[in-house]
Amino acid sequence: MRILVTGGAGFIGSHLIDRLMADDHEVICLDNFYTGRKHNVLKWLDNPNFEIIRHDVTEPIRLEVDQIYHLACPASPVHYQYNPVKTIKTNVMGTLIMLGLAKRIKARLLLASTSEVYGDPEVHPQTEEYRGNVNPIGIRSCYDEGKRVAETLAFDYHRQNNVDIRVARIFNTYGPRMLEQDGRVVSNFVVQALKGIPLTVYGSGKQTRSFCYVSDLVDGLMRLMNGNSIGPINLGNPDEYTVLELAQTVQSMVNPDAAIEYKPLPADDPQQRQPDITKARTELGWQPTIPLKDGLERTIEHFRTRL
Ligand code: NAD
Ligand code: UDP
Repeated sequence: MRILVTGGAGFIGSHLIDRLMADDHEVICLDNFYTGRKHNVLKWLDNPNFEIIRHDVTEPIRLEVDQIYHLACPASPVHYQYNPVKTIKTNVMGTLIMLGLAKRIKARLLLASTSEVYGDPEVHPQTEEYRGNVNPIGIRSCYDEGKRVAETLAFDYHRQNNVDIRVARIFNTYGPRMLEQDGRVVSNFVVQALKGIPLTVYGSGKQTRSFCYVSDLVDGLMRLMNGNSIGPINLGNPDEYTVLELAQTVQSMVNPDAAIEYKPLPADDPQQRQPDITKARTELGWQPTIPLKDGLERTIEHFRTRL
């Protein structure tokens, strides 16, 4: 198949491309390199099955492909809040343009949505039926409301124009190739511990997240794309940890002498998050296989070499 991956030079996109290339597909990577790096896909640049296009998804483009993995959008709060208007444009106009392309060329489109559509959830763990608790005017809303509109667009294009869609609600994912300055919690703690500087815990550290290793997530995305369920479907690792537990785990694995420094909790930071993955288990036969410690070991090794 010929497959387009928007945001393909980013963290998840580049791991997905590795799998698609290994499966002998033709892959087009489209990216504006805001948080992505050419380095992430360097090994494919000379491969005739691979193409890379520097392009912003908020601008129209004409391509012929069979499938579209639509991942283009900064995912770290630091990066998506740097230019919030651009984040909304990327989510709304970018998704509109990609759905328009999918409609014209009759391609299947998978939207990378997010657990952020649940906001600061009042239901725990979060099932796909839960409609969320999002602040529409907060500093995270450019991302979470943007993704909610992106989901709406996907379902309206599906109902109105028969566009073949798949919607994944991705929960916190981590692994090699996250940016050193990414700002998300796993890469922050690992980089800080390796550099011997204090690990920055925001708030009390009692807020929870559930961390999925990137290879598991990519496997889930590919099963969703190639299966019959259109979603929305939660993809994440249900093992839940407090942020402080994560800091202590990284501390014990990298540098038991590293200090923990408490910083203010950012506004609207969700208090607890854990995916209910019953739907992914039953409809995709998918569940994560890599426990946090194993995934952290691989991530630490990667950053150790890179730093
Ligand atoms: P990332 O920031 O590493 O990758 C995003 C990629 O999109 C980057 O390569 C960036 O340059 C590109 N991009 C951003 N805006 C663009 C635009 N306007 N035009 C073209 N390219 C653009 O993030 P990631 O962690 O790989 O996330 C990928 C997708 O998965 C995102 O849509 C994100 O919302 C979603 N997601 C990720 C997580 C996670 O924990 N990693 C969780 C939920 C959802
Ligand atoms: N966090 C933290 N220290 C950091 C970065 C993040 O304590 O250096 C916290 C953050 O406040 C949040 C959790 O870790 O409660 C996850 O943050 P991240 O930005 O990774 O993802 P998201 O909030 O989007 O789930």
